[in-house]
Amino acid sequence: MRALRLHAWGAAPELVEVPVPVPVGAQLLVRVEAAGLCHSDLHIMDAAPGQLPYELPFTLGHEVVGTVVAAGDAVDPAWLGRRAAVHGIWSCGRCRQCRRGRDNYCFELTGPIGNGIGYDGGLADYMLVPGMRQLVPADGVDPVALAPLTDAGLTAQHALRTVGADLAGATVLVIGIGGLGHLALQLLARHDPVCVVAVDPRAEARALGLRLGADAVVASTIDAAEWLEGGHHGSGADVVLDFVGSQDTMDAATQVLAPGGRIAVVGSAGGRLEVAKGGDLPRGWGVAAPFWGSAGDLADVVGLAGAGVHARTETHALSDALTAYDRLRRGLVQGRAVVVP
Ligand code: NAD
Ligand code: ZN
Repeated sequence: MRALRLHAWGAAPELVEVPVPVPVGAQLLVRVEAAGLCHSDLHIMDAAPGQLPYELPFTLGHEVVGTVVAAGDAVDPAWLGRRAAVHGIWSCGRCRQCRRGRDNYCFELTGPIGNGIGYDGGLADYMLVPGMRQLVPADGVDPVALAPLTDAGLTAQHALRTVGADLAGATVLVIGIGGLGHLALQLLARHDPVCVVAVDPRAEARALGLRLGADAVVASTIDAAEWLEGGHHGSGADVVLDFVGSQDTMDAATQVLAPGGRIAVVGSAGGRLEVAKGGDLPRGWGVAAPFWGSAGDLADVVGLAGAGVHARTETHALSDALTAYDRLRRGLVQGRAVVVP
């Protein structure tokens, strides 16, 4: 089968032939129907040797939907032939975090995290999954629209849950209307914020943001600060969802935060934030750096697919995946690029 594998840090992945894996015990083999391309893949490819705790080579692809085509003898045979969304966090299922339904914070995830992030992922014809716990049934759901929900949608959902108590009636600033941001806007509409302003330097992304329900879209965090200062519903943002995470965006987040406000830093662009009681942040500040989402969050997001939460996608053949990554890097993708092997 074909697989897009990362062989060296700081280099482009390569499409190579590898044997189709054979599932044993609790494992399942999924025929990949769709795999989304995430900006995190670019961070992974660009990492310096020794920066990430993963052994090379491995196959990229952590947003995967497929059909179960084979399974080990410990698997319920009812899974054969079913479509499923894959939870890309291969948690242990036993530790305190897993038992509390916080499996995205599993204590055992100290090295590789799951498919496409240290273990072989879904940019391939087939992918091995360690067990039934990693699958959410998705019979009848369009695999292309669903694949981005397994990370972009799931991460946005978990980020909203992290700041959820503060959303009703709130003014919310969304930074970045890309893969994650365009799904966050759709999920936000379900939380009854009073006002959502979204920022993106790309005109097409801003147009998408307006179509997805943002009350205002602006081209820079400076414009966002001005807009929020304008006092449309009282000044400042009660919640900032930062899907970029650069120094500029994190600085902007601290400057527009209203008293009692919450910042969720989701993007991984390397910004740093200094927090101190009585420091520069307003009274009652809160900051979180949520990671991906739990299996329970994924089941919720899959349930929302078709109920108004819908990734905007462009599709590419597996042989074309490097072109698609290049489009993502150059800011040419609206919503999510999805590979259909
Ligand atoms: P993307 O490339 O699809 O979208 C990023 C968007 O941000 C683009 O539309 C871009 O134009 C916009 N942008 C860039 N600079 C900006 C700025 N200064 N102000 C406002 N907007 C700006 O990326 P994505 O796949 O949505 O991922 C976003 C980030 O989230 C990445 O850093 C990714 O690694 C990270 N991520 C984190 C988690 C997590 O668990 N915390 C999970 C998935 C992705
Ligand atoms: Zn665990």
